[in-house]
Amino acid sequence: MHNDDDQLAFLDDMPSPDSGSAAEACWYLLIVDDDEDVHHATEFALGDLRVLGRPLEFLHAFSAEEAIALLERQRDVAVILLDVVMEHEDAGLKAVERIRNELGLDAVRIILRTGQPGYAPELDAIANYDINDYKTKTELTRGKLFTTVTAAIRSFEQIQRLEASRSGLELIIDGSSHFNAEQGLPSFAAAVIVQLSDLLGIPPEGMVCVRTGGDATDGIVLAAAGRYGEMTNQPLAAVTEQTARQMLECCLQERRNQCGERSLALYFAGRHGSNFAVFIESTAAIRQIDRHLLNVFRTNIAICGENIGLVERLRKAAYVDTLTCLPNRAAQIEAIDELVDGARSGNYVLALIDIDQFSETIDAFGYRFGDQQLQAVGGRLHAMLPDDVHVARVGSDVFGAFGRSEVVNPVSLRNILLEPFDSEGGLHIISFSIGLVCADAVDADGADLLRNAAIALKRAKVAGPGNDAYYTAEVGVLTRQRIHMLHDLRSALDNRDLFVVYQPQIDLASGAVVGIEALLRWRTAAGEFVPLDQLIPVAEQSGLIVAVGSWVLRTALVAQGELAAHGYPLRIAVNVSPVQFRQPGFLDVVRDAIAESAIDPGLLELEITESVALSGWVQTVERMHAIKALGALIAIDDFGTGFSSLSYLARLPADCLKIDRSFVHALDDQHSGTPIAAMVIQLGKQLGMRVLAEGVEDCEQLQTLVDLGCHEAQGMVYAPPMAQQDLLVWLGNRER
Ligand code: C2E
Ligand code: MG
Ligand code: MG
Repeated sequence: MHNDDDQLAFLDDMPSPDSGSAAEACWYLLIVDDDEDVHHATEFALGDLRVLGRPLEFLHAFSAEEAIALLERQRDVAVILLDVVMEHEDAGLKAVERIRNELGLDAVRIILRTGQPGYAPELDAIANYDINDYKTKTELTRGKLFTTVTAAIRSFEQIQRLEASRSGLELIIDGSSHFNAEQGLPSFAAAVIVQLSDLLGIPPEGMVCVRTGGDATDGIVLAAAGRYGEMTNQPLAAVTEQTARQMLECCLQERRNQCGERSLALYFAGRHGSNFAVFIESTAAIRQIDRHLLNVFRTNIAICGENIGLVERLRKAAYVDTLTCLPNRAAQIEAIDELVDGARSGNYVLALIDIDQFSETIDAFGYRFGDQQLQAVGGRLHAMLPDDVHVARVGSDVFGAFGRSEVVNPVSLRNILLEPFDSEGGLHIISFSIGLVCADAVDADGADLLRNAAIALKRAKVAGPGNDAYYTAEVGVLTRQRIHMLHDLRSALDNRDLFVVYQPQIDLASGAVVGIEALLRWRTAAGEFVPLDQLIPVAEQSGLIVAVGSWVLRTALVAQGELAAHGYPLRIAVNVSPVQFRQPGFLDVVRDAIAESAIDPGLLELEITESVALSGWVQTVERMHAIKALGALIAIDDFGTGFSSLSYLARLPADCLKIDRSFVHALDDQHSGTPIAAMVIQLGKQLGMRVLAEGVEDCEQLQTLVDLGCHEAQGMVYAPPMAQQDLLVWLGNRER
């Protein structure tokens, strides 16, 4: 910012009221007297008086009434020479009251004159009505009149200046609130013209020009008003008004204010290259305004201008993803919203493209590798999709593409993404899940569309890596139900509406109860049980399973301790969701729970489903070893439902294989069912694992399992999952 005094130096160059160009300006002096001679005498006495370079102009009234009527029309009178006694004894004083209170003329100076030396108004009247002077007519010699009027005019001028400053300040304060940084530079510039014109008391007529390059002629007109209105967004060089263009060019070139006959160009130096110049034109000569005031205005503008620079930089940061240099989520929502009206009719589609197993990739290869992958994918989408497709990075590993359905569809997108990607010097094939939503399927805005596409994406992911799905209304309804459930689940966890039941596990050789499995239950406030096949997915997708899971673990370990205290030191099996298992803090949760409960860790068995154990997550084996290192056991739950590679299974440090209940139930069909159960039992034995059959419902199934050499069983044939108290009773009964 330049020195303010430099900036304001131009004011001294401005045509001052003393110079010729403002010669028509004068001071109005109103003579109020019922004696015509007084009028003549006064005019004669003061005729050639000049005050502050201006002559006097005389106005005449012969009664108080007449004076009031005249002042109503002509409000810029500087001094009133007012007779006290006219229509009434105190007509003059009454007039003063009306001038001040009714007409609201505060600046005009009033000199009371009286012919009767003995008659003086009350002293408090002088103070109350702001009477400038009180003189007897004889007292007012020519010389005295001269000095009295001169002093009055000077004080009138001062009051007027103060008044102008005050309202100017009000304008500035008011005006600053109009300089809404959010609206960006052009509307700021337009506001500057209006506010500056207001301040100068002239009609808004002018331009604001911003300098874009090193050369002053590189300016662009940011805003324009009045007869320059058409010039907005034009290059400065294209401005046909020669005076305006030259003044702006000079102003930007010389970096200082320019002053013409009836125009003014002010220079504003911005810190962030937003140097600009304001050109203001007035049909009347621009009156001198308070130096100080313009200074305040300029400072204000400078601050507003800086703010705008800041807001614009913030805005850029708010709309661009720095890693990929693509627009971000907010930008995509805005881009979609812009197309909502009209243009979006027909076949626009928003696709969300998600990198499968991205977090596993990062876990395995590090963030740098992950970043490179994101850049490669973003770059590919941007380069290969047509320009009219809006590509953005809308989430950590999710890209959005919004455009016509001919290009934004699973086939075209997969074609683009098929080729391997270059990261860390190697070529890698990446698998993607894609969720799509048609823009016209629902009357939705950008945010809705993104939400629905995300729902479709989730559905695609449920189907497994590399899948895609379109959003449908039914999916939307289901998702909303799930969201409700999630909300309820959250409060259930707080309200202790969740509880754990326990199902016994029996050793088939001895018939002894060797373990129990902890199973989660949720009874809603309405008393209904929520099925776990609805609850668990919701909890997993929301991440709430982490909190729920560790609560189950701690609760189960407390129960185990209490059962042990009753003489039943049973093994306790706790289910672990894939989301929990992959959670970075999972091991700490298990370690802390073991420490808190003081359980023999060899009595804790964590059940991990086959799909997790064999998902191919690079850290699976490592994490399982870490669990083993804590002393706990691992069971592979629902075994047989996945498509496990047997060689991989052999590498897993698991203690137990749980045959999925579907194979147990299939035992009823001697031909098809038995071979699988038999195979799993054989497999477990080969790998040195315990084999447990779950969901055993009847004695026939049980007998077959015994015959096949299965080690343990769990199911209704023994007992349903029970509350802790019921389990204690059941255990007691079984001993008898
Ligand atoms: P799972 O681990 O395979 O649990 C065994 C399921 O079989 C339980 O269903 C149990 O009630 C049921 N079951 C027991 N006996 C029989 C029987 O004789 N016949 C049949 N048909 N079923 C029987 P539940 O309690 O509905 O649990 C369903 C699944 O929810 C569990 O399957 C487990 O994967 C999951 N789950 C339960 N509690 C938790 C938990 O605390 N955390 C996590 N992550 N998952 C849990
Ligand atoms: Mg289980
Ligand atoms: Mg199971």
